[in-house]
Amino acid sequence: MNAKVWLVGAGPGDPELLTLKAVRALREADVVMIDDLVNDAVLEHCPTARVIAVGKRGGCRSTPQAFIHRLMLRYARHGKCVVRLKGGDPCIFGRGGEEAQWLRERGVEVELVNGITAGLAGATQCDIPLTLRGVARGVTLVTAHTQDDSQLNWQALAQGGTTLVIYMGVAKLGEIRDQLLAGGMAADTPVAMIENASLPHQRECRSDLTAMAEDACAFELKSPAILVIGAVAAVAENQKIAAFGSSYTAQGLQAL
Ligand code: SAH
Repeated sequence: MNAKVWLVGAGPGDPELLTLKAVRALREADVVMIDDLVNDAVLEHCPTARVIAVGKRGGCRSTPQAFIHRLMLRYARHGKCVVRLKGGDPCIFGRGGEEAQWLRERGVEVELVNGITAGLAGATQCDIPLTLRGVARGVTLVTAHTQDDSQLNWQALAQGGTTLVIYMGVAKLGEIRDQLLAGGMAADTPVAMIENASLPHQRECRSDLTAMAEDACAFELKSPAILVIGAVAAVAENQKIAAFGSSYTAQGLQAL
């Protein structure tokens, strides 16, 4: 029997942001193991598959990772086509790498399918061009949440000149602000906080580095949300940007 598991990204929520390859994998699936940040609407592509919810939101009910591993293995060894469906991209803070390695070590064929990660989707849904030419020379994706409490190199992040996209940061806004300020980031650096990106109930809160924690509190920002920190976070807010044509500059943005 052909043991195969597809590790598939379901994108940020909007079912139209699913890839064609993800749809093909869902159509072929006998079993779909679904995380809880995945929009159930994508299940229209696998009407006859057995769907198993294995979500694990921080602080809420959780399915142990070892159990998920064993379940995937069991179905694959029974010759079932298994789709492990994850929010966003399977390999961006999604354990796709760990699961693929674990399965391959046991002789299971694995195929990874990209999804649009929430950080990129959230920015684009809010018209924030993450690497706007002349403003940001790159983008850095980081998680504010670590299992071992290891520290990020905040100074490097603060001074790196790239747009920061922070996942799992809602409960740590004060700490993120303090660390970036201490690392030398300008206090008035624009911040966009995007909740439920790409879903009908998406909300966005614009702020700056010093005010972001208070503004998020007043806004009642809730998880899942991503933070975009950097000059580009002010772009869409100010439609006057059009007047700058193609020669955007950080100073120009601040002058708007
Ligand atoms: N693999 C996922 C990330 C999983 S980590 C991906 O590539 O998107 C979970 C974090 O992702 C959440 O805490 C939140 O920061 C972010 N996230 C996931 N879906 C989101 C959404 N629709 N809107 C905003 N943030 C989201």
